[in-house]
Amino acid sequence: MTEEFDVAIVGSGPAGLTAAIYTARAALNPLVLEGEPSSTSDQPGGQLMMTTDVENYPGFPDGILGPELMANFRAQAVRFGAQIETVKVTKVDFSARPFKLWVGAETDGDPTYLANTVIVSTGAKALMLGLENEERLVGHGVSTCATCDGFFFRDQDIAVVGGGDSALEEAGFLTRFAKSVTIIVRRDELRASKIMQERARNNDKITFLWNTEVAEILGDEALTGVNVKNNVTGETSQLDITGLFVAIGHVPNTQLFEGQLAMKDNGYLITQSPSSRTSVEGVFACGDVQDDIYRQAITASGSGCTAAIDAERWLEAHHDGNSEH
Ligand code: NDP
Repeated sequence: MTEEFDVAIVGSGPAGLTAAIYTARAALNPLVLEGEPSSTSDQPGGQLMMTTDVENYPGFPDGILGPELMANFRAQAVRFGAQIETVKVTKVDFSARPFKLWVGAETDGDPTYLANTVIVSTGAKALMLGLENEERLVGHGVSTCATCDGFFFRDQDIAVVGGGDSALEEAGFLTRFAKSVTIIVRRDELRASKIMQERARNNDKITFLWNTEVAEILGDEALTGVNVKNNVTGETSQLDITGLFVAIGHVPNTQLFEGQLAMKDNGYLITQSPSSRTSVEGVFACGDVQDDIYRQAITASGSGCTAAIDAERWLEAHHDGNSEH
């Protein structure tokens, strides 16, 4: 039977769960469709589930682990009455209100949920290099998540690809386990913030391979090494490593909304700044799915609050709320 809600929140990272806390405290009984774990890089709770220490989220002077922070967000949303379902939305129809949402494989019949407003907070996911063997060896030496997999590389020689904050953060974390960590950077400089650069440069276990790209990922059952190419000299060489962590950026999770919500060329949702309004009235977006600039947990969280207040005001203005549910 189709259930109807005033607010359906799709996604459960800092943005979605902050929206849940705010709408729950506004007595809107939100439904949170938190997603389903399908791989290490795709699980409820979003990207912080794959992070270790979060040191820049205000309120935690000693830092907090990403998964612990997300468990706190979730418990806070539940405490105020948010209904959280561990399901993945597979289809939406935003052409008329109430909006329709389906979960599961069966998307031809009646929608699973109807919602007067929808808050989209589906986040972004890790980019891969696109090389042969890469996907096949995920979980067998190739990883996008140091937190999840670092433990398996105790006393081993491993590498991280990328030159941004993610790459340096992952590399630093991995030095807790690995014998050595080589950071493979495609240019002769890093994109990462100065403080992260300094930390990495001061870490004895970390070395940098500049102007270098991964040309080939080697291994049958498990990763045995990579062939790398210096893109200035053209020189190639083999790195004997048993772990390769890919940390080269993210793509927004917006495929579900193609043709329904306006997007930028890079696939991120367009919101009407300074609000969280999307191109469809009554549908709001927050967090990384609409933010290709700041992409921080705290900015995601802040925008989740914005979306909750926008949804609440929209329901009030339209008097077609369904708050008895
Ligand atoms: P970024 O987009 O910042 O960096 C991606 C890095 O990967 C760049 O160095 C880029 O190289 C490189 N790269 C991209 N594609 C390839 C490829 N095919 N082969 C080799 N290298 C490639 O992504 P991040 O995930 O690092 O960070 C995203 C955002 O999140 C940033 O704003 C960052 O500051 C923030 N962040 C903050 C953290 C913190 O404060 N603790 C931790 C993690 C992320 P190039 O520079 O040449 O383009």
